[in-house]
Amino acid sequence: MALIKKRKCPECGGEMEAKLINLHYKRESVDLEVEVIGIPANVCTRCFYRIIQGKVAKYIDTLVDPIFESEKSSKEKPLPSPHVGIQFPFLDRDAYAEL
Ligand SMILES: [Zn+2]
Repeated sequence: MALIKKRKCPECGGEMEAKLINLHYKRESVDLEVEVIGIPANVCTRCFYRIIQGKVAKYIDTLVDPIFESEKSSKEKPLPSPHVGIQFPFLDRDAYAEL
């Protein structure tokens, strides 16, 4: 079953297109940043509104949250907070999109 179904943009009614996108995560009170690369999403071709499937978003949260938690709880910091990259393997379009 495809992760991404063809639909209209809920913001502007434009056409949406299945794509792999990158997301940048930041939290208040933590300097650490996480870049997640290669997330399948529906992206509006007109206004660039993006929809990530709930299951996928939840899975990414389970990967990203502990990184922020561990940074928050580390008291002694010998180095500045890093930028962390999470990269999913490249997916062929037919692996996640039905269009
Ligand atoms: Zn739109």
